[in-house]
Amino acid sequence: MSMEEMIDKYFRPGRLPHIWCPGCGNGIVTGCIVKAIAKLNLEKNDVAVISGIGCSSRASGYLDFNTVHSAHGRAIPIATGVKLAEPKLNVIVVTGDGDATAIGGNHLIHAARRNIDMTVVLYNNNIYGMTGGQYSPLTPEHAKATTAPYGTVERSFDIAELAKAAGATFVARGTTFHAPLLADLITKGIEHKGFSLIEAITGCPISFGRQNKIGGPAEMIQWQRDHALPLAAFDKLSAEQKSGKFPIGILYQNNDCKEYTEAYDELIVAAQGGK
Ligand code: SF4
Repeated sequence: MSMEEMIDKYFRPGRLPHIWCPGCGNGIVTGCIVKAIAKLNLEKNDVAVISGIGCSSRASGYLDFNTVHSAHGRAIPIATGVKLAEPKLNVIVVTGDGDATAIGGNHLIHAARRNIDMTVVLYNNNIYGMTGGQYSPLTPEHAKATTAPYGTVERSFDIAELAKAAGATFVARGTTFHAPLLADLITKGIEHKGFSLIEAITGCPISFGRQNKIGGPAEMIQWQRDHALPLAAFDKLSAEQKSGKFPIGILYQNNDCKEYTEAYDELIVAAQGGK
């Protein structure tokens, strides 16, 4: 299916054009989600896309599936309710680093712990873009933000490691430079039975790039090219060589953990006397 056919099929024409700034990476990540759905040949009515609040979360309004554009940080609890009510749905959460790891951080770790079957695509642009460039829990230490004009002194989360430690059973990272890989990782995340988190490194030239003098969209995407390494190559580096670099690909997968809605259904059957 061509990109034009995908736009016709999966986007709501009345909602376009989108609000994203020129050079923003959000369109690439959203395109990767759609490519993954197209590759898996999922019926539109079998997909639910739930988002929170922020630049990336606007994607749910553009996509023609069952969608909820919810409240700040609350995409995952709403997605949890949707999945429990209709376990056959492919539930995809669209969220940003501020939305998912600050106000929504509590929900993220508990959904991972439960291993509920949903795919969280976390657009990581390292900042709160929509609200004016405040630093988020994924803003790198010493990077500038409107709330940290001299650089933040806070250490940032490695959200992939955090999700893994919390119990996620599929954890991956891609970038908008490596878009075909990112689409493939989202495909595998949707196929995975359990909680999957795909961190999508994406450029925000307006709120993050400008304040940190990284350059425009081209320089930001070149930065991704120059700092991301496939996991196998990354693992071969010394600690010193790893500094400033990050691994991409599937970082962790565990297929042996019971999925939450299945466990819940078994409990209901047992409570009803095994019938
Ligand atoms: Fe994209 Fe940043 Fe603009 Fe938001 S503020 S639309 S993340 S470039």
